[in-house]
Amino acid sequence: MALGIIPVGRYQHDRHRFEFPGRNRHDALQKRDGFAAARRPPAYRPTPAPTNTILRTKGNGGCNRSGASRGGLRFRDNGLTSVAMRIKSFATIVACSAALLPTPSFAWGAEGHILVAAIARARLSPQTIAKVDAILAQDHDTLTPPDMLSRATWADAWRGAGHRETAEWHFVDIELDHPDLDTACYGHPASAVPASAGPAKDCIIDRVAAFAAELGARDTTPAERILALKYVLHFVGDLHQPLHVADNHDRGGNCVTIALGGQRTVNLHSYWDTVVVGELGPDARSTLIKLQADITPELAAAWSAGDFSAWAHEANAVAVKTAYSFRTPPRCENNTAPLDLPAGYDAAAQSAAALQLERAGVRLALVLERALGPLPAASLTMSPAD
Ligand SMILES: [Zn+2]
Repeated sequence: MALGIIPVGRYQHDRHRFEFPGRNRHDALQKRDGFAAARRPPAYRPTPAPTNTILRTKGNGGCNRSGASRGGLRFRDNGLTSVAMRIKSFATIVACSAALLPTPSFAWGAEGHILVAAIARARLSPQTIAKVDAILAQDHDTLTPPDMLSRATWADAWRGAGHRETAEWHFVDIELDHPDLDTACYGHPASAVPASAGPAKDCIIDRVAAFAAELGARDTTPAERILALKYVLHFVGDLHQPLHVADNHDRGGNCVTIALGGQRTVNLHSYWDTVVVGELGPDARSTLIKLQADITPELAAAWSAGDFSAWAHEANAVAVKTAYSFRTPPRCENNTAPLDLPAGYDAAAQSAAALQLERAGVRLALVLERALGPLPAASLTMSPAD
């Protein structure tokens, strides 16, 4: 590592350890390492009155991220609830005024997933929203707040809570020099029954398909349906992050350190997980408005074609064209000097990330409608025996 470089872009083995507080790129990079694997922030504790009043804190009259995290609403991912609630509130037209919104944080790790879920929720039929909420209302897990937007981040929190057997499910290493999906998916092993039981060596494409099928199956137990829904909410998002579906023998860009100006560095995967999403707008609400405005009926119809595999290949093409558009070492090395991004890379990455988030939101709504639309409400609730 070059002298004087702050090691904020340190290589990490896990694709998803990059959620960090700090919406601003520099803040984010300074704080990213706070999400080390062993760190276990205070568990979320459900509180009543899930309205905008939940965002009210003493310090700023309402919508402060840190205030929410330290106030009556607690959760594992620092600041997550605030972002989720803010966007949710926006979607339902209740909420903090824009002027009160602080500079939120998070990315495809959290903000990105929340944005995808917010886009999807706004497109769901009232009947499907009711079914989603009925399923989630039975979930007493405390890793994240219980609302749909927050539950879209649950799979990362679950893996971070020690469930390494689910780590491989979040990505598929389609190699740039050998783009063979069968190899990347470990030969497509049969799913366990229930799907939440594995197998551990499986790729995101097979996993999201298994959980979507389970979500829509009449004979799925209510407890398993909760898990299936949470994995679907998350994996449809991950499937659209280009560096979750591409690899250059560099752990999806985790081994590539890039310079961000000054002494700031970040690894390429983290850049796409978090930094670029944070650059899409001054805050999450603004970004959501922008993304939703981009989605025309024609685009939504076009994006609704294909299946999980096709969507993965599409995201892989984005990775090849944009994320890996400059020469990077096809290996993991220690102490490599940070690489400068080529001119125009930031702008191209922002456009690609926005497009992928929009596609993911449209498709998540599609997957949820297909899975839950035909299911009778009675199959979605637990009986006393469950
Ligand atoms: Zn993930």
